[in-house]
Amino acid sequence: MLLIESDSVLARRRYHRQKLVLVWSAMRHFAADLRQDGWTVDYCEATSFAAALSDWIAVHGISALHLMEPAERPFRQAIERLNLPIPLHWHRSNAFLWSREDFADWARPYRQLRMELFYRESRRRFGVLMEPAAEPAGSKPLGGQWNYDQANRKPPPKGLAGPAPLSFEPDAITHAVIAKVERLHEDLEIRGESGLPGRSEPFGWAVTRPQALAVLEHFIATRLDGFGPYQDAMVQGQPTLWHALLSPYLNLGLLGPLEVIRRLEQAGLERGSPLASLEGVIRQILGWREYTHGLYWWFGPDYPRRNHFGADRPLPTWLEHLGGSGMACMDTVLAELAATGYVHHIQRLMVLANYGLIAGLDPQALTDWFHRQFIDGYDWVMQTNVIGMGLFADGGLLASKPYAASGSYINRMSTYCKGCRYDVKRRSGPQACPFNALYWDFLARHQDSLARNPRMALMIRQLEKVPAEELVDIRTTARTVLG
Ligand SMILES: Cc1cc2nc3c(=O)[nH]c(=O)nc-3n(C[C@H](O)[C@H](O)[C@H](O)COP(=O)(O)OP(=O)(O)OC[C@H]3O[C@@H](n4cnc5c(N)ncnc54)[C@H](O)[C@@H]3O)c2cc1C
Ligand code: SF4
Repeated sequence: MLLIESDSVLARRRYHRQKLVLVWSAMRHFAADLRQDGWTVDYCEATSFAAALSDWIAVHGISALHLMEPAERPFRQAIERLNLPIPLHWHRSNAFLWSREDFADWARPYRQLRMELFYRESRRRFGVLMEPAAEPAGSKPLGGQWNYDQANRKPPPKGLAGPAPLSFEPDAITHAVIAKVERLHEDLEIRGESGLPGRSEPFGWAVTRPQALAVLEHFIATRLDGFGPYQDAMVQGQPTLWHALLSPYLNLGLLGPLEVIRRLEQAGLERGSPLASLEGVIRQILGWREYTHGLYWWFGPDYPRRNHFGADRPLPTWLEHLGGSGMACMDTVLAELAATGYVHHIQRLMVLANYGLIAGLDPQALTDWFHRQFIDGYDWVMQTNVIGMGLFADGGLLASKPYAASGSYINRMSTYCKGCRYDVKRRSGPQACPFNALYWDFLARHQDSLARNPRMALMIRQLEKVPAEELVDIRTTARTVLG
């Protein structure tokens, strides 16, 4: 067995320090587990992945290489480009339930793909949350409804606080990785280059499979029952609320998707968890996670270059610095991101990506930023979530309409606006909430193309009601916001 811990990854992307610590510490722990199970393991710390692999093959006289199919195209391409002198045997990945071929067979007949149809098929195919006595067997969803999302969009009441997440004290292995990551950061700064984003300590993520399983059990014990209602809420000082915090472990392979889904289903039914919560979390993993991975391969290699709105604005410096925008919502989310490499789905979608969409930020630059900053970020999950769901840069292949929103959405679903120097009720002038000015400017900029989308009709009608003079002021404010 060969594991290569190569800092050549930093030549392409400066990853968040927590992400490097998580991945490298998990690899070192995994190597130790494999050795204990009797495997012969070479763990190689290298400055070049390619050289490390080629040397290992030469030194040990390796005659064939067996690899798990990586979830992302660039990694497989990088290995193939090495033109290794021995055969490569690719094995199907166990990180997803749907193979690429099965997904393609499902998708082929449809002109327009929708997650809900895929999700229902997944429930049937894997027999998850189905009515056992239905005829034909397994044809009806448990409780009579496929989706309880409508019950899950409550704004946060005053004082809303979620259960504390489970975190782990770093052991000697993790401490050694933290020291290495800090050294790499300092070396970059000494060379006058930008260092690694975020902070590496305090570090509390799970780095072994038993710890990841403990996170799953802790979620079931403390958060599963409450998962649904406040899924979309954003609360100052409450970065995790009832979210599962499982994506880093599912994406890294410390947990398998089917074991997580089966355990959630079994525990949720035994506990009598509200169906809206149980179905809600299972939909995320059996539905969204599988769907975004399937689409990544189905849409093909050109998908990452999509730019439907022709957006080309460079990223503001405060995004790179993870703070300093002056907007309470944005700076809160960026501070949480700097600390752990994690913010929850609605913060990613409705604060970070929404800003990128309405400000017209370059989609490829923003996707790369997400990829660098997030503890659970990988190419397969970034493309569909940022290019597709967040920025609508794919012109609607994934989402049926752009998730564009003004400050009113953030005000309704969060506690951020109360502490903000901007006024969420204003849409023009120096006090105006930047999300408001940018939102109306976005609608006006793309009015013709948006008007062709029936799901945008209401918003376009609202735009048409804005008095012409006020629209000029709003658009001037938007230009000021963008500098
Ligand atoms: C702009 C943007 C960027 C994102 N970047 C990433 C990313 O880098 N890595 C990543 O894994 N997810 C990403 N997501 C999807 C989702 O936000 C995260 O999976 C989720 O926030 C992870 O936190 P959690 O485990 O607490 O999730 P929960 O909200 O508790 O959901 C449970 C699980 O469902 C899965 N899931 C939920 N939604 C999605 C989705 N849209 N796509 C894929 N899986 C999903 C995850 O495995 C997650 O662990 C992104 C979403 C958006 C809108
Ligand atoms: S007023 Fe606008 S900028 Fe300030 S927190 Fe609210 S939405 Fe964000």
